[in-house]
Amino acid sequence: MKIVHTKTELRRERQEYSGRVILVPTMGALHDGHQALMESARLEAGSEGLVIVSIFVNPIQFDRAEDLENYPSTFEQDSAICEAAGVDLIFAPAADGVYESDSSVMVMEKTLSTTLCGAQRPGHFDGVCTVVLKLYHLTQPDVMVFGKKDFQQVAVIQRMVRDLDLPVEILPVETVREENGLALSSRNSRLSEQAYTEAPVIHATLKRCSSELQSGAVKPAEVTAFFQQAFESLETAVRIDYVELVDAETMQPVAEIRKDAILAVAVFFGDIRLIDHITVQTP
Ligand code: AMP
Repeated sequence: MKIVHTKTELRRERQEYSGRVILVPTMGALHDGHQALMESARLEAGSEGLVIVSIFVNPIQFDRAEDLENYPSTFEQDSAICEAAGVDLIFAPAADGVYESDSSVMVMEKTLSTTLCGAQRPGHFDGVCTVVLKLYHLTQPDVMVFGKKDFQQVAVIQRMVRDLDLPVEILPVETVREENGLALSSRNSRLSEQAYTEAPVIHATLKRCSSELQSGAVKPAEVTAFFQQAFESLETAVRIDYVELVDAETMQPVAEIRKDAILAVAVFFGDIRLIDHITVQTP
């Protein structure tokens, strides 16, 4: 496995290679969720293909300075995880190694990113699209792998690929969870001990709320109240950022249960913002 730190080195490595290339973009602090992405990438690439993992905490997708400053960084461990997962090349640029200091062009998605995380985190998806497009150009992959945990991100990137005619396939990979249901996230390591113990309630409540929606016992307009009630007895200070039932394709709120509606939630557990979702089956 090779590690490169500059765009020039990355381009050089890429140019020397003519086979199939699979890119897994990450922000590091890698866990089993990222590992699942790398394993899918390895399968996609076959033994001859090149699997590239980028590790870059993209400053322009953070809406809160404090979140960016405290984002975990574990490079030694990350490279060991990549090596074990059969990654061929890590691109780990310096914080100032991706954007020009006077960079002034961005990619903006204007529909799918108006709800959920896009509504709560202004500029977030513009930052995501911009960095993913840059990584796409730098690595010229055949396939880019993303986690379904960030389902709105997958939708927005698929839209960018469609609208900007990028000749690349997007491969979404299932969410990896702890046995207790908590979705793995780099931010979990920043939860207090108490919050970490209580955070599985998010997934448990998604499951309960989804089956009550399906049976009609809970109406789409009542989902926030349902979550508020579920969080009431926790010791951790919890603040709901959003609970929404949305259409899986348009990301727009739906008032009725229909095929492929997604119940999505973002919650601050203490200072740490966690997201999760579930597909609500039609009755
Ligand atoms: P991040 O490093 O958090 O930006 O995530 C990099 C990629 O890993 C994104 O495509 C995420 O959707 C994906 N990812 C993060 N957590 C998980 C998880 N628990 N299961 C599957 N994929 C994940």
